[in-house]
Amino acid sequence: MTGSVQRLLFLDVDGPLIPFGAVSQPYPTYATGPELHGADANPLLSRINPEHGPRLAALPCEVVWATTWMADANECIAPRIGLPQLAVVIWPEPSDIDDQDERNGLHWKTRALVAWAAGRPFAWVDDEVTGTDRSWVAAHHQGQALLHRVDPRHGLTDGDYVALDSWLRQPA
Ligand SMILES: [Mg+2]
Repeated sequence: MTGSVQRLLFLDVDGPLIPFGAVSQPYPTYATGPELHGADANPLLSRINPEHGPRLAALPCEVVWATTWMADANECIAPRIGLPQLAVVIWPEPSDIDDQDERNGLHWKTRALVAWAAGRPFAWVDDEVTGTDRSWVAAHHQGQALLHRVDPRHGLTDGDYVALDSWLRQPA
């Protein structure tokens, strides 16, 4: 063992796991896991390809939910795709989000993720990251970071997994 710190992978849900926005054809759906009914049923959940579970679990990192689904990700998504219960990033209240950040184009998640990582190297997988977030993280985060943008029309693809796996395996 090297004793190096395990890298984090902050995972957004809407976009990376639940694709949206393609116009050409309907998304395939997957009936899997515990089917929820009534108020808990969210039809978007059926868009999540269950293969994402084992593929994420195979990455050499600690996966952390970084999504507005918050605790619901463990309740509704993890069991569907065979992931264990994962740590969850808790977001600041909207009233605590800096207006200046918004004007500057910094994503509202960025500060919270850097604080959560507390210097640990991390990958952040999201359909909304931009160069502004990359620059801010480079200036404010001590460890290595990969801000990896996923095309929400497709969700996580083979190419995304290759890029993530290769970054996560890079020596520090
Ligand atoms: Mg998203």
